[in-house]
This record gives sequence, structure tokens and C-alpha cells, in this order.
Amino acid sequence: MAHTSYPQSYYAASANPVPDRPELNGEVETDVCIVGAGYTGLSTALFLLESGFKVSIVEAAKVGFGASGRNGGQIVNSYSRDIDVIERTVGPKQAQLLGQMAFEGGRIIRERVAKYNIQCDLKDGGVFAANTDKHMKHLESQKKLWERFGHTQLELMDAKRIREVVGTDNYVGGMLDMSGGHIHPLNLALGEAAAVESLGGIIYEQSPAIRIDRGANPVVHTPKGRVKAKFVVVAGNAYLGDLIPELSAKSMPCGTQVITTEPLSAELAKSLLPTDYCVEDCNYLLDYYRLSGDNRLIFGGGVVYGARDPADIESIIRPNMLKTFPQLKDVKIDYAWTGNFLLTLSRLPQVGRLGDNIYYSQGCSGHGVTYTHLAGKVLAEALRGQAERFDAFAELPHYPFPGGRLFRVPFTAMGAWYYSMRDKLGF
Ligand SMILES: Cc1cc2nc3c(=O)[nH]c(=O)nc-3n(C[C@H](O)[C@H](O)[C@H](O)COP(=O)(O)OP(=O)(O)OC[C@H]3O[C@@H](n4cnc5c(N)ncnc54)[C@H](O)[C@@H]3O)c2cc1C
Repeated sequence: MAHTSYPQSYYAASANPVPDRPELNGEVETDVCIVGAGYTGLSTALFLLESGFKVSIVEAAKVGFGASGRNGGQIVNSYSRDIDVIERTVGPKQAQLLGQMAFEGGRIIRERVAKYNIQCDLKDGGVFAANTDKHMKHLESQKKLWERFGHTQLELMDAKRIREVVGTDNYVGGMLDMSGGHIHPLNLALGEAAAVESLGGIIYEQSPAIRIDRGANPVVHTPKGRVKAKFVVVAGNAYLGDLIPELSAKSMPCGTQVITTEPLSAELAKSLLPTDYCVEDCNYLLDYYRLSGDNRLIFGGGVVYGARDPADIESIIRPNMLKTFPQLKDVKIDYAWTGNFLLTLSRLPQVGRLGDNIYYSQGCSGHGVTYTHLAGKVLAEALRGQAERFDAFAELPHYPFPGGRLFRVPFTAMGAWYYSMRDKLGF
């Protein structure tokens, strides 16, 4: 079987030392077998190991191979769809529980970084940038909404104030969340994997789960081995394929692209983002950007429904970067890559249990750095028998994509067109 390595991203090029991990050969037994070593799998493993469970992870490629090692690195709180939508969908009690958890993932990341001394360039401060007055009104109501659930560290910014933190005239205002921030995402995953191993967890790489025997004693099969476990946690997200057909019908992998400039002079970097916060705008097809630890601009955006790799990433993303920062017109792009996140129709995470002992969490629809860390905690609580917070997620309704699986791509591509028109026209 082919050895799958990291894409040629800035993160892979600047990763902390990556140890070789074994492929699974033969049969092993454990309490919990986790499928996938992204943030969901690693966070779940850490919480379980800290509670005394034996844990093995099977990873199809390498730790952080998926979205967790390729993302924009932005610690964005809350969910891809906000709590008011949850409230309208499932009522106030469940919304209260989910609302209280909306900022917990960012705290978990900071605790992990501190406790396990993870070197991942963690910086505080995230900006939601408003391109239009309508966006600004949305941010004002979002602030009120989040404050209702106890999240009070938010600052609204007018056009003058946002200009102090983002060096462009494109925005009419914004909102600063000091509990947001940014990280080197692959180094966070690698640090978490090392923490898993320091607690006795085992990670097998190049070991895709190709079949799961369900029932009282589930078994996860890989090409050369199998893991017998009391519980299985499925954390393969957009890279899972059709391993669990019930899940793939209600979710769709989507690609988003990231470019990274050559290192900028300290002066130029400071003129773009004087306070080193990360930024995402409020468009549905949003731009997101930040500085790296070595003063490059990392700029992402674009969505390819159905997760096909676009031929020339730089030509898609660079024009957006220059619209925001025309002063970068002569700057070279050193890296360009794509990665897949998993979209659900509601844009809310898909969480649940198959039978008594196979758990899953996936589909956080593009905003997953914080949610996946929370998901690990909530899944571990459920395996320990405290399922109240898990149930609050598991009860969120999910629907198959209209037109069935074969029509998912064209239908939602229409949706993307609609939203991009909406962004352009400002309604
Ligand atoms: C380009 C990009 C930019 C993004 N930017 C941001 C951002 O700035 N902020 C934010 O909040 N969110 C962002 N996201 C989303 C966020 O990165 C994801 O939501 C999150 O990382 C998902 O983590 P995960 O562990 O669930 O999945 P993944 O990180 O994708 O991990 C899944 C892992 O499972 C493995 N796997 C799959 N199938 C199998 C199998 N059968 N057997 C064994 N292993 C398997 C894969 O190889 C992979 O390593 C971005 C996503 C992308 C793609």
C-alpha cells in the first residue's frame, strides 16, 4: 500500500520534528479504538487517557494529515451556524447547553498547549471583519447573542478602530474576540499526538480503517491488522469516504484553499496586521488570514464543493489577497495547498452513536479548530457515562443533501453561486 505523506504546505515545511510511527500489523486489543488522528481523534484520545482508558488510534496517513494539519490556524469560537439558529431549531434548553459550550474549545486548546508544553506559535486575538453595514449589524446582534450565553470578552470596532488592527480600508468595522487567536495547526496536532503517547496511547499511521465489524465487540480492520475494542470513535471527517454509509449521505466534503507568502519584512508584516490578530471576514464564502510565526501572510478562502482539487490555487486565492492588501502585489507566494472540511446541510456538527459502542463527531462545516477540541471532551464524557452534553449535540437534526448523493455537487454548487452573489450585492 502506498505511503501517504503530507501535502506540500507551509505547515509541513515548518513542522516540529515528526517521528515515524508504526503501521498496524496483527491484532491488538484496547478499550477505545479511534479512527483518525486529526484534532477530533487526538482530543478524544487525550481526554480518555487522562480518565484512565486504554486508547489506540488508527490513522490512514499521518497525524494531522487532514484538515487539522492544513487549516487557516484560526481559533474561531462558536459553531459554523450560530446559537440563535440552534435555538430556533431545537428550543431554548438545548440551545442553552450548546451556547454555554460555544467558547470552551478555545480554552481547551490553551490548556493543552500549556499542560503539554506544545510549541505551536499560539497568539491571542481574532477579528471578524465587516465588509458592509449589514455585516456590522450582524456582528452587533452576534455580540448580544454571545453575551446572553456568558461570553463577554468581545469588542465592537468602528471603521477607525479596525484600521488600527488590520491595514486595509476594506472594512466598515468589525468585532474583536480576545479569546480567539491563532496557532500553527500541524504543530498543535503533532504536540497533541506526542501528549497522547506520553500517556500511553498508541498511534498507528499508514493504517486506514477499511471495515468496522459492529456489535457487542466491535473490531476495526486495517489492511494488515485489526483492533478489538470496547468502543470505537470515528473521527475521519472529510477524509472518511464511505466507511460509514449512514454518515456520508448527510455530509459533503468541500475543499478550501490556502496560500502563504514568502517571509515579509517586520515592517511590512506590522503594516498589515499591527497587533498580530487573525482575521476572517463576514462573507458566506469568506477570506481568512493571519501572520505566521516567521512573518508570512497565510491567506485562505474559496470553496470547492465536492472536494475536487483546483488546478491553480494561487490564481484563485491571490486576487482576494490583493483586494485586501494591494501592497503585496510584488510579493512571492511560496506555498499553496488545498484541504477538505466536511459540510452538513444545517452547517451544524453531526454527532451521535451507532449501536451502543460506535461514536462519531464530524461535519463542523469549516469552523472546526475549537469545536473539534470540545468534541473530544464531550465524546470522552459520553464514554464515561455522562452523556448530557453529548446528547445536546446528538439531538441536532441532520438531513441528506437534496437530490441524493449523486446530485450533491451540482446542487450545492448552485448554493455557493447564490451565496457568492449575495456577498457581492450585500444582501
Ligand atoms: C484549508 C482549511 C482551512 C481551515 N481553516 C480553519 C480555520 O482557520 N479555523 C477553523 O476553526 N477551522 C478551519 N478549518 C476546519 C478545521 O480544520 C476542521 O474542522 C478540523 O481540523 C477537523 O478536524 P478533524 O479531526 O475532525 O478532521 P481531520 O483533521 O480532517 O482529520 C481526520 C483524520 O482522519 C483520517 N482518516 C480518515 N479516514 C480514515 C480511515 N478510514 N482510517 C483511518 N484514518 C482515517 C485522515 O487521514 C485524517 O488525518 C479549515 C479546514 C480546511 C480544510
